[in-house]
Amino acid sequence: MNNNANVKIYEYDAVIVGSGLAGLAAAKELTEAGKKTAVITKLHPLRSHSGAAQGGINAAIGGEDSTELHEFDTVKGSDYLADQDCVELMCTKAPETIRWAERMGAVFSRNEEGNIAVRPFGGQSQPRACYAKDRTGLTLLQTIYEQADRAGIEVYDEWYASDIIYEDGKVSGVVAYNIKDSQVAIFNTKVTMFATGGNGRLFRFNSNAHANTGDALSIVARRGLPLEDMEFVQFHPSGLGGSGVLISEAARGEGGRLFNSEGERFMEKYAPNAMELASRDVVSRAIMEEVRQGRGVGKDGQSVNLDLTHLDPNIILTRLPELRELAIAFQGQDMLNEAIHISATAHYSMGGIPTNIDTQVQKNAAGDLVEGFYAAGECACVSVHGANRLGANSVLEAMLFGRHAGEKMIAALDDGITFRKASLSDADRCIDEMTTITTSNGNETVPKLRTELQVGMTANAGVFRTKESLEKQLALIDDVLARFKHIRIDDKSKVFNTDLQEAIELGHMIESAKIVVVGALRREESRGGHYREDFTTRNDEKFMVHTYATMDKDYNIDIQWGTVMQGKFEPMERKY
Ligand SMILES: Cc1cc2nc3c(=O)[nH]c(=O)nc-3n(C[C@H](O)[C@H](O)[C@H](O)COP(=O)(O)OP(=O)(O)OC[C@H]3O[C@@H](n4cnc5c(N)ncnc54)[C@H](O)[C@@H]3O)c2cc1C
Repeated sequence: MNNNANVKIYEYDAVIVGSGLAGLAAAKELTEAGKKTAVITKLHPLRSHSGAAQGGINAAIGGEDSTELHEFDTVKGSDYLADQDCVELMCTKAPETIRWAERMGAVFSRNEEGNIAVRPFGGQSQPRACYAKDRTGLTLLQTIYEQADRAGIEVYDEWYASDIIYEDGKVSGVVAYNIKDSQVAIFNTKVTMFATGGNGRLFRFNSNAHANTGDALSIVARRGLPLEDMEFVQFHPSGLGGSGVLISEAARGEGGRLFNSEGERFMEKYAPNAMELASRDVVSRAIMEEVRQGRGVGKDGQSVNLDLTHLDPNIILTRLPELRELAIAFQGQDMLNEAIHISATAHYSMGGIPTNIDTQVQKNAAGDLVEGFYAAGECACVSVHGANRLGANSVLEAMLFGRHAGEKMIAALDDGITFRKASLSDADRCIDEMTTITTSNGNETVPKLRTELQVGMTANAGVFRTKESLEKQLALIDDVLARFKHIRIDDKSKVFNTDLQEAIELGHMIESAKIVVVGALRREESRGGHYREDFTTRNDEKFMVHTYATMDKDYNIDIQWGTVMQGKFEPMERKY
């Protein structure tokens, strides 16, 4: 029995779930345009994972660089799976996005001439990552939050979004609950945007914040809407051994080198030209291969050495101070004096909620649109990253497409888009989910199931995948899914019930993990971040397509394929 009598219904023009760079950029635009906008976020905005971005944000603003080179590098990096119209939009608007951020007050690091400095990043033919020391994301997030706050955004922080109001191909808002007292509310709106970030926590060894559980992905999938290209997970080459905490690519961009236990600079074998600055998938596989062949370092031999000791200490102290602190804090290793131990860590989801170039959510592989529904940032797949994202393109994507979503929502509102009036029963699914979890009295626990899921994902659906490993993981997921029905949480209260929240999050994680694994099984080729040891080459004839996965109520996954928007760059073999 539902008890929705206490549910409040709020009416807004727009609701945005997520207050990272993508959500805040959209919220700022909407609010400045006079649209009544609510931002729902399970964290305080400044704790969003965007604030953890260290290395940089790409824009072709320096010396020999050009927009066209940025486009080429991005498409090549994507292993030709990116939609080239979207890549063109992103790269063309990148310099203007930097100026937008700067005019708002973001202080970028400068070169000796006093211009915004750029540093080299992986897969780039020219240095192109603008940065604020190694705190780029935090600088941008603080700036945009300040400006959005000044514009008067209304933030519901520590609220958990749990469902969309979806009917007849139209979204009319969001159902959420206040984490403080478990009070459920309906946000009934004309336009709705998801900007909920990534799902790196699916993996045991990852660089992501605790909150990155990918809730929105399965909120969408539970409504029978598709997710795109979810099998493409980026493993970043340099997570601190043991914890997975990120050491930004900036460490290699500034000159860091990789060595195995035999003192060999092994990237010479794998990417003789780009070396440590080959794209992330290439470097991650090289590291894991060295480890597999017994040339790893560290207590368990699972890491390799990242050495910066040959650099002028001032470079580390002025451009990478936070990275140095992280390695000291987590590993007791000071990069000024010694090599630090790193290994490939799950980092970024290339896939997500499919959108068209204007951030409108698609309801099928044919590209039909869901009315009133937008997505941007890491949770979305507009597809600028295809099968592999280049470093420093994601903060750019989040800000640029977040702002673009804001502009498109303003236009839709000005055109007179309407919503369906919500009724209290729209909250039923959310209330049911909360009640089922708090009253469930089985013998399984959330931490145990979550650990099993994550350990399995890293082992079976990680840097290297095979049919056998993926089938093993699928069986593991189905087992965890069945046992999830028999969980018991200790805290039954309504006040800051983190047990409840973690259980809801785990439900989402299991479902999006299943979509990742089924996509990976069906994609019998190797492309970008998805590497199949039983199909080691890219197969353009069969798989130059986007994956659209849908889930039914029994958690069966169906896969359809969608067209990749080709453009001026012809697919070539990818070499670095
Ligand atoms: C350690 C690290 C370093 C990185 N460095 C770089 C870099 O140097 N350059 C680069 O380009 N990229 C980098 N990235 C990637 C990049 O930072 C992210 O992809 C990007 O910032 C994501 O922004 P976002 O706005 O989409 O989401 P996020 O900033 O992750 O924000 C997600 C928001 O959604 C909210 N949310 C999620 N679920 C719910 C829910 N159910 N209910 C309510 N709210 C919810 C959260 O509260 C949060 O506000 C890095 C990533 C990591 C993890």
